Amino acid sequence: VDESFLVGLVGDGVLPSLTPPMHEAEADAHGVRYLYRPLDLSRLSYTPEQIGPLLRAAGDLGFNALNITHPCKQLVLDELDEVSEDAARLGAVNTVLLRDGRFIGHNTDFSGFAAALAEGLPGAALDRVVLLGAGGAGAAVSYATLAAGAAELTIVDLDAARAVERAATLRGFFPRSRVTAADTAELPELLTAATGFIHATPVGMHQHPGIPVEASLLRPELWVADVVYRPLDTELVIAARALGCRVLDGGFMAVGQAADAFALITGLDPDRQRMREHFLRL
Ligand code: NAD
Repeated sequence: VDESFLVGLVGDGVLPSLTPPMHEAEADAHGVRYLYRPLDLSRLSYTPEQIGPLLRAAGDLGFNALNITHPCKQLVLDELDEVSEDAARLGAVNTVLLRDGRFIGHNTDFSGFAAALAEGLPGAALDRVVLLGAGGAGAAVSYATLAAGAAELTIVDLDAARAVERAATLRGFFPRSRVTAADTAELPELLTAATGFIHATPVGMHQHPGIPVEASLLRPELWVADVVYRPLDTELVIAARALGCRVLDGGFMAVGQAADAFALITGLDPDRQRMREHFLRL
């Protein structure tokens, strides 16, 4: 491959992101020239609503692709010439390919989580899955879990209306699965019957320390997936491991979205294990 790649990450607060070094190291390992720059909206004096002009500027300057993050994953949809079916259903795009003057949107948050589940928790029972958190990450992981074949998915969020709305949307796309919303008060009962638990709220992040459900609600038979990756060993991950649960930490999703974006951008097959090892060193 003698092509070179210029890629950007658009969003607010993207300067400390680990995604650029993940892409660049993987490109180095493939012997490909690849430059990945964070494009911070406020630093560049662009408002989120100006994502269209920013996309076109990047196109004019020869960018091959952009990753899109908060707060533009929905706003960017209006600016695209083409959107993958999954990204359109999710209503969120995190990867835009710039090809022949056209903007093509994809979502690798969901596909990255699906890959993470398959690799990090192979054979995980998807009979009855409970998801806590129906925000941006929750939307991606719920879609991925149903796409992976979950029979039952119960969505719980402090914002009950958000959980109800997400469940209704997903039922339309996955009619063969049972998708419902439940109240946080029902968590003890739900977790007793669940085969897997996915956590997708900010609880456990450095800025939001704590555990999202009481550790006493976990059992060794229950697999546990956390999307929080700063820190990687959240209180939930530590408690679940101590009990002997199979655990997927949030780094798997972070690496999964990056690996899938790298594959879309370059057409190369990333080495996910190598990307995870690099991520763990960052
Ligand atoms: P968000 O604000 O869009 O959604 C968070 C949701 O959690 C909201 O609906 C909120 O009502 C709910 N919530 C908050 N506290 C709760 C609680 N105690 N109980 C029940 N519900 C609660 O946020 P987001 O973008 O979805 O991010 C959530 C977390 O996922 C963050 O820690 C973020 O860093 C992480 N994340 C990880 C990846 C990854 O690749 N691993 C990707 C995206 C987001």
